[in-house]
This record gives sequence, structure tokens and C-alpha cells, in this order.
Amino acid sequence: MHELSILVEVVRIVEEQAVRLNVDSVKAIVLQVGELSSVVPEFMEEYFPNVVDGNPMFIDTVLKIETIPGIARCKECRKAFNVVEYRGYCPKCGSFDKEMLCGQEFFIKEILVPEV
Ligand SMILES: [Zn+2]
Repeated sequence: MHELSILVEVVRIVEEQAVRLNVDSVKAIVLQVGELSSVVPEFMEEYFPNVVDGNPMFIDTVLKIETIPGIARCKECRKAFNVVEYRGYCPKCGSFDKEMLCGQEFFIKEILVPEV
């Protein structure tokens, strides 16, 4: 359930930015979530209405979540592969020894505000 606390933090940051930009409403928040980041996008979407409930800044805000695939490079044969799809094992040589290239990130990519 840590999605809830992450979301509260995201909303806090977005609100801070909005205040700084002098806008009183936010159209959309775009998050990028790595497949391996341990954040479940479905939970984020589910909790979002509750987190922003009663806050006029977020009345019509859409939460968009972009998933970044979990890609690693095999340390044995250098092949890049999708960790989730192959359950962590290199599809070429079968090695479990790898370095992560992407898929563990979590960040706010964009905050969209109405055009003035
Ligand atoms: Zn390999």
C-alpha cells in the first residue's frame, strides 16, 4: 500500500509547482513508472481521486501513467532483454548475471496546466 504515500507526495510536489507557476488548476499529471519499480500503476489510479478529494486545484485532473519496461543487459553475452518477460534470465545464454538499464525509475514526467 505504499502507493498511497507516494501519491500523497506526488500531489504535494505538483501542488507546490502549480503555486509557483501561479496556476489554480492542474489538467493532468504524467508519471513514468518503471515495470520493476515496485509501484503498481493500478493502485495509483485507484487512490488518486481520494488523495486529491476536496482540493479545488485537482478537480478535473487526469492522472496518466506511462510504464517503462524493465530492461537489463546480460553481463555474459551483453544481450539486452526484458527482465519481466524472461523472468530475469538471459534468453540467449541463460545467465542470471545482469545489469539493469531501465525499469526501476519513478518520476513525475509532466504537469499539464490549462492554457491561459
Ligand atoms: Zn546472456
